[in-house]
Amino acid sequence: MAQDPDTHDGRCSCGFVRSRMASTPMIVHACHCTWCQRESGGPFVVNAVVEAARVTLLQGEVHLVVTPSASGRNQKIARCPRCQVALWSHYPNAGERICFVRVGALDAPARLPPDVHIFTSTRQAWLPLPPGVLAVPEFYDPAQVWSPDARARWRAALA
Ligand SMILES: [Zn+2]
Ligand SMILES: [Zn+2]
Repeated sequence: MAQDPDTHDGRCSCGFVRSRMASTPMIVHACHCTWCQRESGGPFVVNAVVEAARVTLLQGEVHLVVTPSASGRNQKIARCPRCQVALWSHYPNAGERICFVRVGALDAPARLPPDVHIFTSTRQAWLPLPPGVLAVPEFYDPAQVWSPDARARWRAALA
């Protein structure tokens, strides 16, 4: 099957859930916060931020698991009900209209490298960042980082 450059399919580990992100994300974060490290077991998580309307299930279903988050306001993690692998998250600032898709659960994660590395104040130092990448100690001002098109998409998604 030919790969549409704007289409990113994903799956859980047991294969019960197959997902599709049907748009290029608004932005891709590599989050180095301690919460993401604990949830992933790795040094950071890569999240593709996209309108929930652009994320569909090709197969199966997900359960939304309420999970504590750094804000104290929790996040909801969409997990396979069988193998519990996470496909995406919803955060309280945007709610269920925005998905933070776990890039590592996509079939071709290398197609979506991070646009920005966040919370690098808690980054694990043994893994150097590539030279020249955009990296911030905590978070950033979207007006300075997001493209105008992406900011318009975000506003439209939350309208
Ligand atoms: Zn599964
Ligand atoms: Zn994080």
